Amino acid sequence: MRTKQFKAESKRLLELMINSIYTHREIFLRELISNASDAIDKLYYHSLSENLTGLSRDDFSIELALDKDARTLTITDNGCGMTKDELESNLGTIAKSGSLAFKQEEDGEHREDIDIIGQFGVGFYSAFMVASRVTVYSRPYGSDEAWKWESRGVEGYTIEPCEMDGHGTKIVLTLKENEGKENYDEFLDPHRVSALVKRYSDYIRYPIRMDMPAR
Ligand code: ADP
Ligand code: MG
Repeated sequence: MRTKQFKAESKRLLELMINSIYTHREIFLRELISNASDAIDKLYYHSLSENLTGLSRDDFSIELALDKDARTLTITDNGCGMTKDELESNLGTIAKSGSLAFKQEEDGEHREDIDIIGQFGVGFYSAFMVASRVTVYSRPYGSDEAWKWESRGVEGYTIEPCEMDGHGTKIVLTLKENEGKENYDEFLDPHRVSALVKRYSDYIRYPIRMDMPAR
């Protein structure tokens, strides 16, 4: 399978981000959860405006799953999903998004959380601050085709067909290996992850679920 190249400016931006905007690496979780919530919003409002039956607000949710052995953190939503073209254009071009304009409209309260990553609309790519590999499975609502997008960062990405049960998007982050002072194990700890969700994603209007170990 051929590896497709990121556009040049994307590549530079990605390198810059991964290497220098490092102090708040945990915000990747907020970025991915906010994307999941946006995707659900999109499908939910579409269902209202088109009078779609069979989609109820209560069925929407965001699921987090941690796998210590595989070193993965997975975020799954049952939102609108992405077509192959959307995967390529949305995840293949960095800093294309409308998040800057949107975030400037938010008022003072959350201002300090709004960092350079959000402002440049490179939200999705913040995953590469903690992940050595990002795999995105997506199936658009109303389609029976699903696609798998995968990238190890600046090298580019691959895209191929895959199987997926329902509509929506599943993002699997394979966390970086610990090296010297850099340790990523906190993102495999359910208590830490749940604290991050409470801290950064409390405003999300859909349930965010994760299995917690029995006490
Ligand atoms: P932004 O959210 O500001 O647009 P991101 O880099 O966070 O920028 O995401 C880029 C785009 O990728 C989004 O605008 C959206 O179209 C698409 N996307 C990302 N995550 C998902 C998801 N879970 N479901 C559907 N589309 C998504
Ligand atoms: Mg986003």
